[in-house]
Amino acid sequence: METQSQFDVIIIGGSSAGLSAGLALGRALRKVLIIDNGKPCNRQTPHSHNFLTHDGHTPADIMEVAKRDVQAYPTVQFLDATVTDVTGHNTAFTVTVNATTHYYAGKIIFATGVKDIMPYMEGFAECWGISVIHCPYCHGYEYRGKITGILANGDTGFELAKMISNWTDQLTLFTNGAATFTDEQHKALIKNNIRITDSEISHLIHKDGYIEQVVFKDEGSIAINALYARLPFVQHTDAPEKLGCEFTEQGHIKIDMINKTSVPGVFACGDNTTAMRTLSAAIASGTLAGVAVSKDLTQEQF
Ligand SMILES: Cc1cc2nc3c(=O)[nH]c(=O)nc-3n(C[C@H](O)[C@H](O)[C@H](O)COP(=O)(O)OP(=O)(O)OC[C@H]3O[C@@H](n4cnc5c(N)ncnc54)[C@H](O)[C@@H]3O)c2cc1C
Repeated sequence: METQSQFDVIIIGGSSAGLSAGLALGRALRKVLIIDNGKPCNRQTPHSHNFLTHDGHTPADIMEVAKRDVQAYPTVQFLDATVTDVTGHNTAFTVTVNATTHYYAGKIIFATGVKDIMPYMEGFAECWGISVIHCPYCHGYEYRGKITGILANGDTGFELAKMISNWTDQLTLFTNGAATFTDEQHKALIKNNIRITDSEISHLIHKDGYIEQVVFKDEGSIAINALYARLPFVQHTDAPEKLGCEFTEQGHIKIDMINKTSVPGVFACGDNTTAMRTLSAAIASGTLAGVAVSKDLTQEQF
């Protein structure tokens, strides 16, 4: 029996990846519900870059245009809510919203992104996405040639320093405790004029998210314009795990070439599946998931 709460597909997460999947499915005449609670990971960043046709636009503007594109398709509905549970199996899933209301679908797409875990460091969260940045391809150009820090240690710190040296030669690695570089890495960092500071950081001084100083616990501070950081993350929801989806060692939802998870009928796309965090990658991933779901539905119904 067809009810108002029955859909072909429910997409959980309505940002870059989810809207992109919704666009493909709307154009495939599928009855779709996109549920989103409005917390994309890039919401604090002033401008998005490295995104063809929208380079330098605000994340909110990009999403407004994206949502308008998808709203043009009458079989796609939107719900501003939090998904609290997903149960069931291929062709018969139940999605619980705000712990009370139920919606039903044959297929599920998780486009839920990830939640970055900020270190306990005053000023860090306020600067995140503004002058404390995750990716030089997204924001490195704006800080080219500037006095730049990297908050990282060991192999991660070494690789980041190597990568970011492309954008500036005024680099300091803040290891925030004893450095753990190998002798070879240490020599290479010194050879490339990258300073290493192992003092523990107390807090960041900033003005409206624009970093000015890294302040140490003992004493002293260093003036910088930008700080790169690789943060640990968690999935936004444990629903994929509860459904039985497999995860990679890094904590991403495991998917195949066409975004199928290890659970039949459950697909995933965007940041929750990959370390390659860019808008264009999330959008491409959403398109692929949408097309793959639609193809499966056709296959089952034919
Ligand atoms: C600070 C920062 C700056 C960035 N800058 C750039 C840039 O300049 N250029 C670029 O190309 N990329 C940039 N990125 C990367 C880019 O933002 C991401 O790759 C992209 O947003 C991923 O899209 P997504 O849809 O997978 O996840 P997100 O955009 O994070 O969206 C996930 C959505 O799912 C929703 N959601 C999660 N769980 C639930 C639930 N249980 N119920 C309902 N809704 C839920 C969230 O509210 C959110 O709207 C940046 C990332 C960060 C963190």
